[in-house]
Amino acid sequence: MPEETAEHLKEVTEQLYKRNVDLAVRNKILSLLRELYQISILTLEPKDLATKVAEKVQVALDFELFGVFLYNENEMSLTPLGFSVSSKFNDSQKIQGCSLERLTIPNTSVIPTLAEVIKNKKVREISHIKDVWGTLMPTCDFTALANEANIKSTLVLPLVVRDQAIGLLMLCLNREYTELSQFERESIFNFVNIIAVALDKAILYKEIQIANARLKELDKQKSEFVSIASHQLRSPLTAIKGYSSMILEGSFGEINDKARGAIDRIFQSSQRLVLIIEDFLNLSRIEQGRMQYEWATIELRKLVEGVIAEMEGPLKDAQLSIDFSHDNQEYNITADEGKVRQVVTNIIDNAIKYTKHGGITLKIKKDSDTRKILLEITDTGIGIPPDVTPKLFQKFSRAEDAGKANIMGTGLGLYVAKQIMLAHRGNIWVDSEGAGKGSTFYLEFMAE
Ligand code: ADP
Repeated sequence: MPEETAEHLKEVTEQLYKRNVDLAVRNKILSLLRELYQISILTLEPKDLATKVAEKVQVALDFELFGVFLYNENEMSLTPLGFSVSSKFNDSQKIQGCSLERLTIPNTSVIPTLAEVIKNKKVREISHIKDVWGTLMPTCDFTALANEANIKSTLVLPLVVRDQAIGLLMLCLNREYTELSQFERESIFNFVNIIAVALDKAILYKEIQIANARLKELDKQKSEFVSIASHQLRSPLTAIKGYSSMILEGSFGEINDKARGAIDRIFQSSQRLVLIIEDFLNLSRIEQGRMQYEWATIELRKLVEGVIAEMEGPLKDAQLSIDFSHDNQEYNITADEGKVRQVVTNIIDNAIKYTKHGGITLKIKKDSDTRKILLEITDTGIGIPPDVTPKLFQKFSRAEDAGKANIMGTGLGLYVAKQIMLAHRGNIWVDSEGAGKGSTFYLEFMAE
């Protein structure tokens, strides 16, 4: 073979070899990026995430050290979150008696290079690792450590999200930074971005979890407070209601009309307060899972007739008509009689409260196929705007009209009613053609 051809062949082979090496590096980095992406999806705990990332990158790219630090803006501190070092680095660390993994950097202002990376959000090459840890660990021989661990260059990269540095990465390489290929350098910047976003997501997730736990605790305390306060209010109120009722009945002698009017108002107001307190007690029972049910077979038609009879007075006062149509069938259900009575009373009471003219009609029917019993309660009252209906069964929810019309209420009745209906494997919902067009409430039960 002529010498020239041999020379050319050698050159081509060398080039091929270089390209092969380059391809292998690209392959390795691409699969590393894929793995980092997987870790970022599956790992939600910040420390866990940083540790997994550090181990993966340090081993895959043969770094001597890979550290993920979290930056605390208030304290200006850097806490190591994930750390991975080569065995060479680890051995030397032990010999030199310096353990860097757990060393928090209390204030970046004492280490100008790190402070600059955080402030400018730009990568920096550090001439010696002593510049980072030297002041914090004066006993450690960092020159020996760098020699034994074969550290040729050190890079500090900021982890930036929403234009804020949330931490930084520290990389110790066994090559000069300038020896890295363009592709390797670009890849480092790529995985810095992936790590920053993943870490940010993990931190936010943790913050949400903490806030959620705190909210749950507050909610529990609120329920307990409502329960205690309601119980405490109940006894004095019973006395007010009892004595005012006795005065009205004449148990303490004759009273004049002026006094009767005033005491009647005391009696009515205390009765209203009793109902409000009962709503609050029901709310805390439901929220603390303490609502108790006594199951028995009851006949729904009779129960509804009973409630209508009890409401005669308020219906008369409001000058509203009432009509209950049924087919004289028996509508037996397994239920807690007191609670179902409470729901039906509440719906009729609301119908009276929110209706100025007209009346209330009730219908009951059974579907023999599904064995569902449906009780419909329709009024000719203020109606409900369509966007409000889905929210009415949430606690403390009241339509704007209800407040504007100056009608008293807590917005708890329908919430409690829904919980009671669900406990009966039933349901409750409302239909209204809109403001001013009346409403129909539906109560659905399972027949026995
Ligand atoms: P409240 O104590 O406010 O009456 P409820 O939970 O019983 O609480 O009812 C929630 C809201 O539903 C009421 O504030 C009112 O806006 C609306 N609502 C309930 N029943 C009717 C009705 N029959 N007609 C119109 N609006 C009603």
